[in-house]
Amino acid sequence: AKELGRNNFQFYTSEMNERALERLRLEGDLRLALERNEFQLYYQPQVDLNTREIVGVEALIRWQHPELGMVPPVRFISLAEETGLIVPIGNWVIAEACRQTRLWLDAGFGPLRTAVNLSARQFAQEDLAQSIATALERSGLPSASLEIELTESLVMADVDHAIGILREMKTLGVQLSIDDFGTGYSSLSYLKRFPIDVLKIDRSFVNDITIDPDDAAIVSSIISLAHSLRLQVIAEGVETAEQLSYLRQHGCDHMQGYFFSRPLTADAMTQMLRDGVRL
Ligand code: C2E
Ligand code: CA
Ligand code: CA
Ligand code: CA
Repeated sequence: AKELGRNNFQFYTSEMNERALERLRLEGDLRLALERNEFQLYYQPQVDLNTREIVGVEALIRWQHPELGMVPPVRFISLAEETGLIVPIGNWVIAEACRQTRLWLDAGFGPLRTAVNLSARQFAQEDLAQSIATALERSGLPSASLEIELTESLVMADVDHAIGILREMKTLGVQLSIDDFGTGYSSLSYLKRFPIDVLKIDRSFVNDITIDPDDAAIVSSIISLAHSLRLQVIAEGVETAEQLSYLRQHGCDHMQGYFFSRPLTADAMTQMLRDGVRL
């Protein structure tokens, strides 16, 4: 039994070593990925539930690794965050999203708003507002066509600092939204203090609205809350017609999810804008 335990232990350590090695390797590759042009933005359309038109997209990063293939963000964003690489990567995301959105506006597909996700490390950067301003200038994108998604935990970590940065970003004219709303530890009073425009209802609530009365109640309450604070509200992770109809009945403004479309390459997104797909 003793022997077996020992073997188990050895088996365990070698597996942990392997994991550590894989991480190290991924980290090395991640450092090179920007200059090697291995990142790509996918775009998931957001639909207005009244007009049934595409009103915006969310930009979602993908890493085309030379050997591993497509690496999803869950596998490298936290690594990028820990190593600080998220700052240059995040700047690339903002610049690329602005560039692509400007192309869509030039092609006559506007008005259209592109949302990008911001990480905690980026949010802590002193020159965040400046780098957003630079990206807007270089691309010639109207600032109202850029939306910045922030999570509750990100803004709640240091409320006074957050309010300062959010105000700077509002001065630029960009739209601000709270992502994954309802999952963080938040006090509702901050909604009043933060200069935000949009609440994004987290997928976990949307998922069960048609089977769990509690989730249904939470979602309809978030919609009412948002509207009484004069905020727009968007539901993410909408996968079924039943979820969609519940959201529509309760006055949700926008929706995003596999039911309408998965995230698409820029080319596929352009095609969808051209075809004018309707819900
Ligand atoms: P998120 O910001 O909550 O993004 C939504 C995620 O839900 C995306 O996963 C999207 O593909 C997925 N999704 C959309 N509709 C549905 C649906 O109907 N059902 C289900 N099951 N999933 C749906 P993705 O692209 O894998 O991104 C995962 C997370 O990675 C994002 O969550 C975000 O936190 C992070 N992320 C992605 N791109 C970036 C980026 O450029 N910068 C930063 N900092 N984080 C990013
Ligand atoms: Ca998001
Ligand atoms: Ca989200
Ligand atoms: Ca999420």
